[in-house]
Amino acid sequence: MPLAHIFFDHISTTPLDPRVLEAMMPYLTEWYGNPSSHIHDQGQRAVQAVDAARAEVARFVNANPQEIVFTSGSTEANNLAIKGAAAACAKKGKHLVVSEVEHFSVLNALPPLRNRGYEVTTLSADSDGKVDPDDVRRAIRPDTVLVSVMHANAEIGTIEPIGEIGRITREREVLFHTDATASAGHIPLDVREAGADLVTLSAHNFYGPKGTGALVVREGVRLDSQIDGGFQEMGFRAGTENVPGIAGMGKAAAIASSEMGEWASHLRRLEKRLRDGIASSVTHLHFTGHPTDRLPGHVSFWVEYAEGESLLLFLSVHGVMAASGSACSSNLKGRDEEDLVASHVLRAIGVPSDICTGSITFSMGKGNTEQEVDHVLSVLPGIVRRLWEMSPTYLDYQKKILQGG
Ligand code: PMP
Repeated sequence: MPLAHIFFDHISTTPLDPRVLEAMMPYLTEWYGNPSSHIHDQGQRAVQAVDAARAEVARFVNANPQEIVFTSGSTEANNLAIKGAAAACAKKGKHLVVSEVEHFSVLNALPPLRNRGYEVTTLSADSDGKVDPDDVRRAIRPDTVLVSVMHANAEIGTIEPIGEIGRITREREVLFHTDATASAGHIPLDVREAGADLVTLSAHNFYGPKGTGALVVREGVRLDSQIDGGFQEMGFRAGTENVPGIAGMGKAAAIASSEMGEWASHLRRLEKRLRDGIASSVTHLHFTGHPTDRLPGHVSFWVEYAEGESLLLFLSVHGVMAASGSACSSNLKGRDEEDLVASHVLRAIGVPSDICTGSITFSMGKGNTEQEVDHVLSVLPGIVRRLWEMSPTYLDYQKKILQGG
C-alpha cells in the first residue's frame, strides 16, 4: 500500500489555492513592473494589482483600503505593531500589556523594548487558554499604550474574547492589537466589531502565498516604521512591494470571504469525527484548548507519558503530518535548551510538566476528508502504546499501579 500523505498541519501553513496561483501568475511573468514606477504601463499595472488586493483584504476584515499595510508576513506585522506603536506613543507612556500565550513574534519583540525602559504586564490564561477581559481592565494603567491579545491560538485552537477586550481598550483609550494569523480566513473577523486598532494577517494561513501578510492599521493610529527606506505602504513599511504575493493575498481573501462558512461546516464535521475517535481509542488523554470556542478543524491534545516529538515522528512514518507543542520544535535549539519540555502555551495552561512532554496539534484544511481522519484514527492508538512501551516513566507508573501505589 502506498504511504499515506495526510496533511493535518494547516495551522503552520496551507496549500496555495490554484485560483490564487492563477491570480498571481501575470505578475510573475507579463506584468513585472514596480508600483513606484507608476509613470509607465508596467508600473501602472503593478499599482492596479496592489490597489485591487488592498480593497479585497480590506473587505475581508471590514477595514478601509487605506488601513491595509502589506508586509512580508505575520512576524513582520507583529513587530511593526508592537515596536511601532511603542515608539510612536512613548510620550504617552511606556507600558504594554500582552498575554502569555502569544506567538514568539509578539513575545520576542518585547525584550528590546524592556531594554529601552518599557514595562510589560503579562496576562495569564486559564486552563483552556482564555484570557480574562477583566484582567485586561485591571492591567491597564495611565501610562499603558498598547494591549496585545491574539484572536486565536495556533497550538491549542482557543478563540480569545477580542470583542470584549476591544470594548475595554476603547473605553480606556489604549491601542488594541490582535494577532489574527491563525484565525483569519477560518472564522469571521470584523476589525470594527472587535474594536481593534491593529490586526495582523498572514496570507499563507488562508490558502495564499508565503511571504505576504498585512497589518491593519486603523485610520489615525500612529506607528513608527521599523524599516528605513522609501515611502511605500503609506510610509509604514519601506521596500518594493511583493506584487505577485499581494495579488495572491487579495485573491485568497476574496475566496475566503465567500467560502469560509462552507469550509467551517466541513471542518467542524471532521473535527468531531477525529475528536470523538481519539477520545474513544486513547486513554490517559487530555484535550487542550477551549472545548467549543475553538478554530474549526483543530484538535489538540496530550497523552500522559507519550512524548510529543516522538508521536509526531511516528505519525509521520505513517504518512500523517501534524505539529507538536513542545519547545524542541519551537526554535529553542541553539540556545542551549535542547531538552524536550512543554511549550510556553502548554505551561501557561498548567499542564503538569512531569507527565506532559509535549502535545499534538492536528489542524485540518478544506481539502481533508473523512477517510483521512479514519486513517489517523487507525494508527494513533498503536503509536501511543508503542511510545508507552518505550517510556521509562510510563513503565515506572505501571509498576506503581501494580504495587497498588
Ligand atoms: N502569529 C501566530 C499566531 C502564528 O501562529 C504564527 C506562525 N504561523 C505567526 C504569528 C508568525 O507567522 P509567520 O512565521 O508566517 O511570519
